[in-house]
Amino acid sequence: MGIFDWISKSAKKLKDVESQIGEETKDVYEVYQRNVVLEREIAQRTEELRLANQTLLTLEQVWDMMNSSRPLSNVLETIVSSLYGEFGYIYSFITQKQYEESETYYALKTYLENDFSLKMAGLTSSTIYDFKLKPSFDGLIENAIKNKEVAYYVSLKQFVEDNIENPDEEKLEEFLKDNPTKTIIVFPITVQNQFSGFLSVFSPRKELNDDEISFLNLFARQIELAITIANLFETVKKQAVTDHLTNLFNRRFFEDALHREATRSLRTKQPFCLLGLDLDHLKKINDTYGHSMGDKAIAAIANVISKTSRSVDIPSRYGGEEFFIILPGIDAKGGLTAAERLRISIESTFVDGLKDGITASLGVAVFIEQTTNIDELFEMCDKAMYASKQKGRNQVTLADTDNITSWQDVAIDAFVDILTKHRIPFNKNLAIDLTKKLKIRQQDSSGSSTQEMLYSIVDSISKSYFPLYQDGITKNKISLATLIAKRMNLSKNDVDKLKIAMLLYDIGNTLMPKDIMKKAAPLSAQEKIEIQKHPIVGAQEILKPISSVSDIIPIIEQHHENWDGSGYPNNKKGSEIPTTSQIILIVDSYFAMISYRPYRKPYTIEEAIKQIKDNVNKKYSPELVEAFTYAIDEFRKI
Ligand code: GH3
Ligand code: MG
Repeated sequence: MGIFDWISKSAKKLKDVESQIGEETKDVYEVYQRNVVLEREIAQRTEELRLANQTLLTLEQVWDMMNSSRPLSNVLETIVSSLYGEFGYIYSFITQKQYEESETYYALKTYLENDFSLKMAGLTSSTIYDFKLKPSFDGLIENAIKNKEVAYYVSLKQFVEDNIENPDEEKLEEFLKDNPTKTIIVFPITVQNQFSGFLSVFSPRKELNDDEISFLNLFARQIELAITIANLFETVKKQAVTDHLTNLFNRRFFEDALHREATRSLRTKQPFCLLGLDLDHLKKINDTYGHSMGDKAIAAIANVISKTSRSVDIPSRYGGEEFFIILPGIDAKGGLTAAERLRISIESTFVDGLKDGITASLGVAVFIEQTTNIDELFEMCDKAMYASKQKGRNQVTLADTDNITSWQDVAIDAFVDILTKHRIPFNKNLAIDLTKKLKIRQQDSSGSSTQEMLYSIVDSISKSYFPLYQDGITKNKISLATLIAKRMNLSKNDVDKLKIAMLLYDIGNTLMPKDIMKKAAPLSAQEKIEIQKHPIVGAQEILKPISSVSDIIPIIEQHHENWDGSGYPNNKKGSEIPTTSQIILIVDSYFAMISYRPYRKPYTIEEAIKQIKDNVNKKYSPELVEAFTYAIDEFRKI
């Protein structure tokens, strides 16, 4: 091989090597370039991660604050501060709707004191703590509120003009000069579907991408949540169940508890005791030592009550110096013992600074044993307490059942009259039996409740003419009717009349031809007219001679009149019809619908409720349907 050959070969080799190196360099360069991109990406992702982490941490902190029932302003301040601090915005603020007597305005509620905020507050004469915005919005914010979406301002000047009333020209110029704000992002805040303010974020960057918006949105939602929680907290506070001076339950809670306890007691057939207590001569203590000593005496009594109460008892401060305690499962004997023990404890309580010590007068009434009506129970207990005062104070009195003519007594009288004077066709021996029961009941207040016995009398009478009659339905009807009546704020007197009417409104059916009552098919039009009028007329005829129920007859007479005047017998309408009659109508319809009839299946409860709702303004007044809807819920809980 000649030298040239060698040279050319070598040159070729060199070229190969060169090109190979070239290739490899290219590869290396590519790798290097790729690495740079990757590194950049890693840096970007790391930054995103850091931001996400920071966001999470901030949100977590805010969440913790919300849960620790910190004031709303603290929570909002944290949100605003973190946007400014950790997330690099120039400034941000939350505006909240404020209501005052004559105006609604938007005020800056959370604040950050920095150069920006001070300058902005300086634009008007307001301070950063109370910064009123223009009363109405136009332009971007108005749009944002309407569409519940984000608004952007790219000009700070525009933002000021849109939202701040009469800014000082000179100060505005200074504010805008060298201001690094490039974008202002505004998020409407909606709480329980109501626009209630907005979050404004001032950013030093022009560009805004979707991620940033979603990130800021998180904060806006957090603000909504914080305001919602604060509102709920406020509601709960209003419904607080304890009294602040004594820490005993308050009147509201007591009244609810009394209803609950009565319901349970009727279900379990266990009595409960109501104990009433009133501090003796509090006026004298107030007059001699001052009001704060009076308060101390009240607190001392509350303390004794708390200490002597079992965990199941419900001790409450009913009013100023009046206490009521519910003692579940306790009868009269136990109630008297508990009351006496309490009286002695109070008598021997030492109140610092009070020379004569304190005493209290107590009353005891027993549910089921003495009455099954909570209004009556309360009245009886109150009277017993008053009797203790009359007898010289510092003593216990058991309620007296004699002085109360209850609705049950009136009903008993009516049934005794009906049965003994044979005003209805009824088995004679059975009538004698029932009358005996009724009369014994009138004299003796022990054993099962008077109410229960009245229900069973109505059950017996109803079954005698209507074989499909279900035992226990009268009791249910009266419970539901009472719940509706209470919801409609009827007086105790009207509720009592309603209960008596509920027992008697169908008594006229006893005079109906048996074949019609027992008919398996739907009635003909003629039969319907007949049967519609007859029971009412019948009831009137049967009850007319009984003077004690004379004011019940009109209620019964009108219990088939409809709100729109389409009822019978007199086409009365609207407020011409007694509310008590309307309540009977709605309760009667409801129970008829959910009961079996030979010619149709019973309605489901939901179907029956729907039927009733569909009849609003037709058969029933809107108030009645509202009360029914409420009462049926309560009734179904029993
Ligand atoms: P009696 O033995 O007949 O109960 O006499 P009394 O002075 O305790 O009762 P009276 O009903 O005549 O007066 C009750 C007084 O209790 C009047 C009222 O100013 C006072 N009082 C009511 N609530 C409070 C309270 O929360 N604190 C104080 N210090 N006094 C109260
Ligand atoms: Mg008193």
